[in-house]
Amino acid sequence: MGTDRIKNNRRKFFKTSAALIGGTIAYSLIKPLEVISQVEDKPKTTDNKELPLWGMAVDIESCVGCGKCAEACKIENNVPEEPFYFRTWVEQYTVKNDGEVKIESPNGGIGGLKQSVPDEDIFKSFMVPKLCNHCSEAPCVQACPVGATYISPDGVVLVDDSYCIGCSYCINACPYGARFMNPITEVADKCTFCYHRISEGLVPACVEVCPTDARIFGNLRDKKSDLVKFLQKNPTQVLKPHLNTHSRVFYNGLSSEVR
Ligand code: SF4
Ligand code: SF4
Repeated sequence: MGTDRIKNNRRKFFKTSAALIGGTIAYSLIKPLEVISQVEDKPKTTDNKELPLWGMAVDIESCVGCGKCAEACKIENNVPEEPFYFRTWVEQYTVKNDGEVKIESPNGGIGGLKQSVPDEDIFKSFMVPKLCNHCSEAPCVQACPVGATYISPDGVVLVDDSYCIGCSYCINACPYGARFMNPITEVADKCTFCYHRISEGLVPACVEVCPTDARIFGNLRDKKSDLVKFLQKNPTQVLKPHLNTHSRVFYNGLSSEVR
């Protein structure tokens, strides 16, 4: 399945025909139909159901913490090289036998995450790739005083550099730490789902390079997309669901320790 998907990724496989997802298969916690209805209720996003509605799933059970996604993102998007600027990064969670939870992400995981806790002290350990959640109720959009942060008609949260005044309100408003002030452009920066790539029928760079297919990108309105198929097969959750930001990044196998 993984090989097929990569091959598909490299083709221009995104269909803009909007076959709404048939809700016949039960899958717990989050259903694509719920996401679509949340988004389509909002006049600030598209009412054009012919357009895709982009989203991503992260399969925590598949992530090996190699950091290739974070590295590819930096290169693809000219993210400043300093180690504290990332559009996507990978966190290593280690739950110790005594209940302590250790979260580490040196250099965003670039170069590969290594375990610093002795084996005998580990209860469980797992990786959590993070990025902008492309919330359909986005606090960053609400906080921007000049409308520079907005949601595209196909559901991607973007920043218009020519409008951004660098006030940082959006950075402070994001509850996921997904934004930073770019020291070179002096405007707010974050994941765009590689909008320049997906507009050309490609997948985001992080998806392209992931060796274990832990990131699945696609059109939530296309029931044939790998993303919808994944969501149909796997129970997923979003980060910080109590905030009701209606994230479009879904996690499979998310532990309660994840923040
Ligand atoms: Fe905005 Fe943060 Fe949500 Fe991304 S994760 S849309 S930056 S509030
Ligand atoms: Fe995990 Fe894939 Fe990123 Fe490697 S490239 S850290 S496996 S999500």
